[in-house]
Amino acid sequence: MSTLLEHALYNFDRAVGLLGGKYSPDLIEKVRYPKARIEYRLSPLFTDGRLHTFQAFIVRHNEGLGPCKGGIRMSPTVTLDEVAGLAMEMTWKCALIGVPFGGGKSGIIADPDHLSPRDKERILRSFTRAASRIIYPQVYVPAPDMGTNERDMGHVKDAISYSQGYATTVGCYVTGKPVILGGIPGRRQATGYGVAHCVHAAMTSLGGSTSTPTAIVQGLGNVGLMAVEAFHNLGYRVVGVADARGARYDAQGLDVPALIGHITKTGSILGFTGGQEIDPKAVLEKPCDILAPCATANQITKDNAPRLQTRLIAEGANSPTSPEADAVLAQRKVFVIPDILCNAGGVFVSYLEYTQETQQEQVTEQEVHQRLAQRMAVKFQQVAQLAQDRKLPMRDAAMYQAVDTVCTAMVARGYLP
Ligand code: NAD
Repeated sequence: MSTLLEHALYNFDRAVGLLGGKYSPDLIEKVRYPKARIEYRLSPLFTDGRLHTFQAFIVRHNEGLGPCKGGIRMSPTVTLDEVAGLAMEMTWKCALIGVPFGGGKSGIIADPDHLSPRDKERILRSFTRAASRIIYPQVYVPAPDMGTNERDMGHVKDAISYSQGYATTVGCYVTGKPVILGGIPGRRQATGYGVAHCVHAAMTSLGGSTSTPTAIVQGLGNVGLMAVEAFHNLGYRVVGVADARGARYDAQGLDVPALIGHITKTGSILGFTGGQEIDPKAVLEKPCDILAPCATANQITKDNAPRLQTRLIAEGANSPTSPEADAVLAQRKVFVIPDILCNAGGVFVSYLEYTQETQQEQVTEQEVHQRLAQRMAVKFQQVAQLAQDRKLPMRDAAMYQAVDTVCTAMVARGYLP
């Protein structure tokens, strides 16, 4: 089993097994599959004066709790199935963290590392135009994901208001925008800080070591870099980091402010001289208290799971651990904070952005950080308690809770004839 969609379906089926017939097989069938899988062919006019074609996808998985929510992934390898798996994960994540959204996701097959900012903007505008009947506050509300960022979401909002002929939109069509365009302060940090809030709660309940906890973080983008910053702020020692271009390791702890400054300036770890250079895969196997995969799917597999030297895995990325690896980790008593809980801080703060824009309010950064910290701590405790009561791994407990919530909403809605 190796694809993200296969992992998502496997985890769903386990949750259904745990629910033990509480919902009818018809309803389970409905919830298992996406409501819509849409494919687009975009042909933006590039700055070279030529039309370039790109494939793009939107998947709306489930709307039981509300409009579909989920980021736009831009990558040369993204597939419709991958987007479907990610949309399904969003359904569970929104339900678990307690926001009235369903699950959705977009994908654009393009390589952001080989696009000029102007051409990337043209792709985003072309995508927004193509999807203009779907991107809507009550239908599907996108956000950044791998390969897209705050700036791109500003272009999405502008493309919509421009086509409507207004200076702004009424209601929230996209989250993760620049603050100056109606974004919310603290959204950029939300996912990574949320990872750290979960880790802190887990370290407190796991107890044990009294020395400074050590962390290794894979991925230094939106999620990973903010997790590094939050671990540093908590007083943890960040001993290893990796991105797609390289990795650095120092058992005494890397210079985090210098690392953040370097990544912010250059966009990658290349040229960072702190610590020693190490193979990006090997750094995952170095000893640490916390391993935070915050890059991409399938990084912890049955091959490297037996060699990991960590007590805790915090899944900042979506689906970084394969089900086979989960089995190994459970046997080795490694505590795993599953993605649908661990990285849900982003969608929680997106919800705050959505309500801020809908109600034309202004929320302060301090308020955002406080509400994020509180929500992550409460949801972590709820899942940890369920895991303890039912003697389940954290992933099964989180999935059980999420699938139960979505099914309850579907039953409450009733069915169309
Ligand atoms: P990003 O594009 O900002 O950064 C991705 C980082 O991962 C980059 O540093 C890249 O170099 C690195 N990377 C990619 N492949 C790698 C590999 N094989 N080995 C090591 N490093 C690698 O993306 P992001 O927004 O930080 O998202 C990262 C993950 O978190 C994705 O799985 C995404 O779906 C998930 N996620 C993101 C958010 C969010 O708010 N951005 C919210 C929830 C989940």
